[in-house]
Amino acid sequence: MLLQTTIAGSLPKPAWLAEPKKLWAPWLLEGTLLEEGKRDAMRLALADQESAGIDIVTDGEQTRRHFVTTFIENLEGVDFRNKRTVRIRNRYDADVPVVVGKVARARPVYVEDIRFLRSQTKRRIKSTLPGPMTMVDTLYDNHYKSREKLAREFAAILNQEARELERAGADVVQFDEPAFNVYMDEVAAWGIEALEAAAAGLKCKTAVHICYGYGIKANIDWKKTLGSEWRQYESTFPLLAKSRIDQVSLECANSRVPLELLALLEGKDVLVGAIDVANETVERPEQVAATIRAAMKFVPAEKLYPCTNCGMVPLPREIALGKLRALAYGAALVRREIGV
Ligand code: ZN
Repeated sequence: MLLQTTIAGSLPKPAWLAEPKKLWAPWLLEGTLLEEGKRDAMRLALADQESAGIDIVTDGEQTRRHFVTTFIENLEGVDFRNKRTVRIRNRYDADVPVVVGKVARARPVYVEDIRFLRSQTKRRIKSTLPGPMTMVDTLYDNHYKSREKLAREFAAILNQEARELERAGADVVQFDEPAFNVYMDEVAAWGIEALEAAAAGLKCKTAVHICYGYGIKANIDWKKTLGSEWRQYESTFPLLAKSRIDQVSLECANSRVPLELLALLEGKDVLVGAIDVANETVERPEQVAATIRAAMKFVPAEKLYPCTNCGMVPLPREIALGKLRALAYGAALVRREIGV
């Protein structure tokens, strides 16, 4: 089947698990209740995707407080008690953990989640991990004193996790690299290599997600400075086209990305963002279909996967569910048109 739908990764959490519409929202349960609550939330996130008709599903990232820091919390060599304030993505200040020694994976992080998701659905499943550069950009390094060196250490750790996710049943392992839209020189110098190292040896599909961020104020303000055309992808896509990564997830809906840049990804699967996550208006299926049709001028249908622009964790649940339905419905409209 062509035009299979998927999502960038995250979905909102139930209000009994974490405060809605908030990034880094603290858990509202503890101990065994929290563990049970996370699993129940995964069941609900999965049910929403299945009932909406999403083809390649995720766990909705229901077990994570944040897409980067929750992974880092499971590493040795990082101090979470004495946080430092740093500017992340060159955009906004955040209190982040500090690298104080050699980093190592203390335990599998999301492997049990994927094993659970695998047991709950027959659909293809995707697991998401932070990318090495985005990890480096979400902490303060007081040990390696080199973004590249630390990224390569993280790549090795991510590779251990990714191989176990594959064994646990993941059909796709995706690395989230929003930092790839900010540090273009580093992407060319070592970012792609670190990403490939993180994905080395995987037989399942590998993906990278590169976006312009959630709909938070710092990102909306940043987007206003980017001018009438967002051409960040222009320098990264040719490098990714030559890389061993199979799929690229990117932002299209309501963005100022010139769609002809998608042609630079020739040969890759393209996860086309046809759902805007920065507003609370549910798209009409016809709008989603229009975005897919526009992307099809530059990406062959057999390589195109309608997707969301980014994670939907900061949205109200009902809005996110509406957007899932619009995504599936919009893809179905185009499928009907092209007769598949
Ligand atoms: Zn994103």
